[in-house]
Amino acid sequence: MTWTAEQKMQLLFTIRTKGVTEKRVLEAMEAVDRGLFVQGLFAERAYEDRPLPIACGQTISQPSIVALMTQALEVGPRDKVLEIGTGSGYQAAILSHLCRRVYTTDRFRSLVAQAQAMFDRLGLTNIITFTADGSHGLPDHAPFDRILVTAAAEDPPGPLLAQLRIGGIMVLPVGQSDAVQTLIRVRRTDHGFDYDELCPVRFVPLLEGLGRE
Ligand code: SAH
Repeated sequence: MTWTAEQKMQLLFTIRTKGVTEKRVLEAMEAVDRGLFVQGLFAERAYEDRPLPIACGQTISQPSIVALMTQALEVGPRDKVLEIGTGSGYQAAILSHLCRRVYTTDRFRSLVAQAQAMFDRLGLTNIITFTADGSHGLPDHAPFDRILVTAAAEDPPGPLLAQLRIGGIMVLPVGQSDAVQTLIRVRRTDHGFDYDELCPVRFVPLLEGLGRE
């Protein structure tokens, strides 16, 4: 099953009304069928603007939040992007249309395997997957032009700040896991880091170590 023209139009309309106007971002959102990344019971709700459960007790983010985070990241075609929290692989698939290479990591091996299978099926060869605790980043592959974290930490993890290139941007939710979180954008300058707050959000927590599944 692929999404219908009407579902696509509806979803893009919703995303635009939430403030996503960047043409490249809208095109990437249009290019990736979210239904492929939501399996089982919830598949038929894949085109609604809401987060949905995926395997391992995790969630696929709300499409308008995926679009807003992608827009806030200001991704360019030559960028090397790190994503923490592969989950279903949907966000990584969107990023893959906008940049040179995506490095994505999750602490659950089975989520990474499923996402990798979907990237293979879709021919998204510029995504490299890792099973690792992403709060340490990927030091062997650093620095990154852009970093996107899709799980919430109390503060931006130090290793991720260190692996951001000067001039680079990181977008991430911060706050206590069960309280209100804020999406923030961090820009690395010659002198340090500039922070701005984007909007309230709710993400699963960034956890330590590998998951068991
Ligand atoms: N970007 C995903 C949404 C994922 S939900 C998508 O498009 O579907 C957040 C994900 O972050 C979960 O899959 C969870 O396992 C993962 N996660 C949490 N803590 C992590 C950590 N320390 N390192 C890597 N992944 C982590």
